[in-house]
Amino acid sequence: MRLLLKNADILAWKDDRFETIRQGFLGVNGDTIDYAGAEMPAAGYDREKDMSGKLLIPGLINCHCHAAMTLLRGIGSDLPLDRWLYEAIFPVEDRMKTDDFIAGNELAVLELLASGVTSFSDMYMEPQTRIELNDQVGMKVNLTRVVQAFDPDEPPEKNFRVAESLALFDRFHGAQNGRIRVDFSVHAEYTINDAVARYYADRIRPCRERGAAVQLHLSETRKEHEECVARHGMTPAAWFEAMGIFDLPAAAAHCVWCTPGDLDILKAHGVSPIHNPTSNLKLGSGFAPVQEMLERGLNVTLGTDGAASNNNLNMFEEMHIAAIGTNGYLTNPELMPPSTILRMATANGAKLQGRGDTGRLAAGMKADIAALDMDRPHLFPAFEPLPMLVYSAQASDVVMTMVDGKILYENGEYLTIDREKAMYDAKKAVQRLYGGK
Ligand SMILES: [Zn+2]
Repeated sequence: MRLLLKNADILAWKDDRFETIRQGFLGVNGDTIDYAGAEMPAAGYDREKDMSGKLLIPGLINCHCHAAMTLLRGIGSDLPLDRWLYEAIFPVEDRMKTDDFIAGNELAVLELLASGVTSFSDMYMEPQTRIELNDQVGMKVNLTRVVQAFDPDEPPEKNFRVAESLALFDRFHGAQNGRIRVDFSVHAEYTINDAVARYYADRIRPCRERGAAVQLHLSETRKEHEECVARHGMTPAAWFEAMGIFDLPAAAAHCVWCTPGDLDILKAHGVSPIHNPTSNLKLGSGFAPVQEMLERGLNVTLGTDGAASNNNLNMFEEMHIAAIGTNGYLTNPELMPPSTILRMATANGAKLQGRGDTGRLAAGMKADIAALDMDRPHLFPAFEPLPMLVYSAQASDVVMTMVDGKILYENGEYLTIDREKAMYDAKKAVQRLYGGK
């Protein structure tokens, strides 16, 4: 099936940068974009869809998410990260059963699709619930079985999480026509011991040829960073390097307290930092040195983190805060131009996820597209769509989300997930977890 989206403004990709096409045409053949331009393409499309007044952008890529934490939205607000984790989050997570993970994932999908997200990286428990749900939903997800070792003396062979992580990769990496990618994951330096980390690195290293990558949390708080230095005599980045975890392409969430030397380590190993400004600001963790990352040529990406610490999965907010945060903090409005921000939320995210065929609107790329309705008071006049997208647009301006050429969300309707059932499941799960509160 060939579909022509016509009369839309398009943030297309040309010569390694965004190019705005006014009232243009975007052709989709099956799951792939086959045309993007200002001129009407040659005939041959089975269907035409008038997109007048809409802005087409690459589907947004949320590179750090704990999807099912939607059920923990906002709990433990106003606590610092360590107390937030141990006093608010872990006790609820201990009570979570498979049905709760399913419900939390469903709730996340509703929020992600309605805000133009086509692909996200997930780091949470019971990843098989995400895979099963996604078979029906049709998004793109990089997911993982997180490896931790809370007992400092635990022998590596006894760590069942390592075996589960490898089994998940073997079974599901590349599933659902490539929409599922399975990453490996070390939760963080402070939740694993050296022996397990080295053992895990040795076992995942051979998977590199099959497109394996690693997700982890890095130097999120000053306390975590300094305790690692006290424990190991090296920073978390240096420790991950020493353990061999950076021998695979890695995605490092937060990096708030990374030193210049740490950023050099990330550069040397091609590690992609994930900037999570909302979560970092809310938990009082700090603000990542994004400008220094960009100066080194690091592949900086964006993520929301979980809804428990954000408190939503809204990439428009993330883009906005990433832009004004760095510019304001370093007192220079030229540091984070909107094109850099959108690149972080799209093309750079695709690179981090090992998806070279998405994150850009150009012929040959997968048809992963979000459409915004520009006929809104807060978007008028839109002299330049790109800054309007970063500084003025809201997630609720999204009116269509398409993945692999298939529309999953349009004008408030979900086409591959039952909204009423998902909300019902979420309410039931909250009753189970919190006793009907
Ligand atoms: Zn996180």
